[in-house]
Amino acid sequence: MLTLLWFSRDLRLADNPALDAAVRRGPVLPVFIDDTADAANHAPGGASRWWLQGSLESLAADLRARGATLILRRGPAGVVIDALLAESGADAVYWNRRYEPWAIARAEKIKSGLKARGLEARSFNATLLAEPGRLATQKGEPYRVFTPFRRALQALDGLDAAVPTPRNIPGPARMPPSDALAHWNLRPSCPDWAAGLRAQWEPGESSAQARLERFLDGAVSRYATQRNLPGTPGTSQLSPHLHFGEIGPRQVWRAVRARAPAGNGARDATDGAGAAHGSGPDTYLSEIAWREFSYHLLFHFPRLPEAPLRPEFNAFPWDENPGALQAWQRGQTGYPIVDAGMRELWQTGWMHNRVRMIVASFLVKDLLVDWRAGAAWFWDTLVDADLASNSASWQWVAGCGADAAPYFRVFNPALQGAKFDPAGHYVRRWVPELARLPDDVLHAPWEAAAGRLAAAGVTLGTSYPAPMVDHASARQRALQSFEQIRKR
Ligand SMILES: Cc1cc2nc3c(=O)[nH]c(=O)nc-3n(C[C@H](O)[C@H](O)[C@H](O)COP(=O)(O)OP(=O)(O)OC[C@H]3O[C@@H](n4cnc5c(N)ncnc54)[C@H](O)[C@@H]3O)c2cc1C
Repeated sequence: MLTLLWFSRDLRLADNPALDAAVRRGPVLPVFIDDTADAANHAPGGASRWWLQGSLESLAADLRARGATLILRRGPAGVVIDALLAESGADAVYWNRRYEPWAIARAEKIKSGLKARGLEARSFNATLLAEPGRLATQKGEPYRVFTPFRRALQALDGLDAAVPTPRNIPGPARMPPSDALAHWNLRPSCPDWAAGLRAQWEPGESSAQARLERFLDGAVSRYATQRNLPGTPGTSQLSPHLHFGEIGPRQVWRAVRARAPAGNGARDATDGAGAAHGSGPDTYLSEIAWREFSYHLLFHFPRLPEAPLRPEFNAFPWDENPGALQAWQRGQTGYPIVDAGMRELWQTGWMHNRVRMIVASFLVKDLLVDWRAGAAWFWDTLVDADLASNSASWQWVAGCGADAAPYFRVFNPALQGAKFDPAGHYVRRWVPELARLPDDVLHAPWEAAAGRLAAAGVTLGTSYPAPMVDHASARQRALQSFEQIRKR
């Protein structure tokens, strides 16, 4: 008996149900398949590919330490699995499920093909607290509103026990050949734009565990009050680790609950805009619930990445404006908090959640650029780019998603900056050409008297852009556009 263990978005050994079941059965052949050449599979962007290499290196080393070898292969997953079964003599395939529409279709096809040939095919849940379909409204419909979804999820608290991490992973007598990871060219070389990513991140399971421990020792207790302050390290930064499955939400949930049992403040921990009403740990678990909600939405509304959930938005008069999109991408809009966020993203592959909301609102409402163009840029540049969370969040900001922010609520980037980055640490870090401006004009340099700008070495339009749009008029234009579709 030999089990082919197909790794995908579960790149860890701890609390990995497919791995646990495979090891209990006997020898294991672990494999990772890169089948993203097929564009329909939402091929990962540059930052995700950078992360994937580190994650696979780490997984291979962890497997090696337990006596197993990770096999790497490229090609359509079904074809690769068939080849490996023939080469190795494996008689079963185990994997942890994914929830992107294409991945569901792929897995169904592979499973039915294996079963038709009398082979064992089993899949497990390593990725979610509650898989899609498990939670439904009283009418048996999918939730479209977050708060009741979260309540239903929290009612399941503590449901699954962790599965053990195997100490030894016996392998097959005959090991099939593997690709060399270096030949997959996942990391950039000419030019090598990843220095900022290397400086900030260490992909892999042990690094994910260490990050969780650091967060639980420190920022979690202040999370409810500090999670909206981008100049403070107040969030867990676990998103890429969660995305690649280097840590699972059940591990996070249990670890948080072990230190802060459920109780006070568990209700209404955050509203959609992130306003906090609960304790740090409860508020944090509520954010984990947003991740679950995103997966729930993607499962029940598989066109979430392409099509607005509110169909009237199909007629929204987006302004196809490549110049505006490019200024936004490069952090050259003239709005300091927006530019700081876009530069943080470019350099580190990550952006603080509050700032993601601000930059997304600016693109969609101030510039009237289609949310899908913003989502595509995030897809390419985020190390945590995730089809469910990215699509659901963009739709939420654009006002066309489930439980979305109302379209008429338009963030004022200068006021958002002053409120959430009052001492200017964030903007000064990412927009150093404004560093010497005093706090009271840092988020709206166009309001500063000429003498104050000169004293800070700032020349608007030269050393830093003048605002590319006037926010008040842009807001009016956005509201008028919204009225057009509302009347239909
Ligand atoms: C326009 C936009 C696009 C986004 N795209 C992504 C994306 O591609 N991938 C992604 O993981 N998150 C995305 N988010 C959600 C959120 O910004 C990030 O999850 C968060 O900033 C990650 O940082 P953290 O790990 O420190 O979060 P923490 O505040 O420490 O939260 C813990 C975890 O909860 C989850 N989480 C937190 N907020 C959200 C949320 N609003 N929606 C879904 N899950 C959440 C994440 O897994 C996160 O790691 C997006 C948000 C916006 C507004």
